[in-house]
Order: sequence, then C-alpha cells, then structure tokens
Amino acid sequence: MKRPSQLLFLGTGGSLGIPVIGCACHVCKSKSPYNARLRTSVLLTLRGVEDTPVLIDAGPDFRMQALNNHITSIQGVLITHAHYDHTGGIDDLRVFNHINRGAIPCLVSEATYCDLKKRFDYILADRKPEKQFITSFDMQVLPSDRGSLQFLGHTLRYLSYQQLGMQVNGYCFGNMAYISDIREYPETIFEDLQGIEVLIISALRLTPSPAHFSVDEAIAFARRVGAEQTWITHIAHELDHDKTNALLPPDVRLAYDGLVIDFKA
Ligand SMILES: [Zn+2]
Ligand SMILES: [Zn+2]
Repeated sequence: MKRPSQLLFLGTGGSLGIPVIGCACHVCKSKSPYNARLRTSVLLTLRGVEDTPVLIDAGPDFRMQALNNHITSIQGVLITHAHYDHTGGIDDLRVFNHINRGAIPCLVSEATYCDLKKRFDYILADRKPEKQFITSFDMQVLPSDRGSLQFLGHTLRYLSYQQLGMQVNGYCFGNMAYISDIREYPETIFEDLQGIEVLIISALRLTPSPAHFSVDEAIAFARRVGAEQTWITHIAHELDHDKTNALLPPDVRLAYDGLVIDFKA
C-alpha cells in the first residue's frame, strides 16, 4: 500500500512569532512547547517512486526550523506571497543549491515574483552569470490565478485570494489544501477546494483582524469547504493552545510547531 504523504508544520505563529519580543502575556511566558510558535511554514513529503520534500514558504525562522527538524533535502519551494514572515529565509535556502548541485525549483505568482525581485534584488535580478549571487532558483511563474500544473512529478492545484491588497496563493496536493494569510477571496475558491479533506487555514485570534480570518471565520470557511480535518495556523499570542482547542469543534484544531499530519497527494 502506498504510504501517505506527510505535512510537517515548521512554524504556526503569526508574523511576530511567539514569544513576541518584549511581551509578558501568559502565552509568551508559557512553558508549554505548544505555545511557542515560529513563523509559518510547512514541509511536505510527497510520496512517489521517491519521496519529494517540498517547502511552502521560507520565513525568517527557516534556518532554525531546518536545524530543529533535521531537514537535509528540499527539492522544491512554493511561495504563498512576498511578505517578510513568509520569505525572510529565502537566502538560507542556498545550502540546498550545494546539496542538490543546482538551482531550486520555486513556484510563485507573477505578482509575488515582481515583489521578490525588489526584496531580493541581489539574488533574483537578471545579471551576467559571473556576477550572480550563489543562491539560485529555477523560478516558475504560475500561468494564471487558478488552475493546476505538474510540479516535480505531482499534480498541484493553485488558487488566489487577497490580503491587504496583495495577491496570495493557496496550494493543494491531492486531498490537502494549504491556505495561509487569507482575508478576501472570490467565490470560485470553493470550486477550487472541492474534494479537500485536510484543510490548513490561517486564523490570527478570536477577534477580527484587517489582514486575517478570526477563528470563527476560519471555521465558517472550513464548513463551506466541507473538510474532514481543519488545522489552524498563523496564530497570534492571544490564543493559548490548550484553552483554545478546548473551545473548538473536534474536527478543528490549532496546529503546533512540529506537528505531522498525513494526506493523500
Ligand atoms: Zn503572514
Ligand atoms: Zn504575548
């Protein structure tokens, strides 16, 4: 029997991470490892003839996430959008240029690529080969706002939504969808998410935010998708892990750093 693909949560925190610098709230001071949250990122292990490790987002905590989780291989990268908490670790991916002996395939939208070229001019700007910085990506730009394509031998579905006027992409392999930093979305998103059983969705806190779903909004979204399991990520320090989970329906849980879940790619 084919082994399930896996998703490892490398980070489940909001843009500030938890503990927040200088904060003395009970979550930031908590001794529970479930309340320590690095910036959001996941590592997928897609099963096929060989295992394919694919990273979604490379935030500023990527180096420690890679060390803590003994990551020794990344064969592809998907970027949701260009905000710092999702891309601040891009430079640290250069070790995989050495390990893979080549450029790392990286999938982004056109809008994200334009933004990243400004943020990482020294890596992504077109230069003469002798002046190229050592980090190198095989940048692949999504051809449209929603659709599907082959990525590293696996069928990937992608979709788009908005956060504070910035285009963000969600990615689906098989029955799993990773939807982070969602605030506004087109109705077509529910067509794109048909058949999703394992939903990873961002929610910042219980109260509304201009950039993120609240927990209730994330649950309402998950209900429309019809997911069997919903995992909340991109969590702020207002949410204590155990106290919040006690309030949630059994099929909706806060994810935590280090959690591994199975899905069918
Ligand atoms: Zn974010
Ligand atoms: Zn705090």
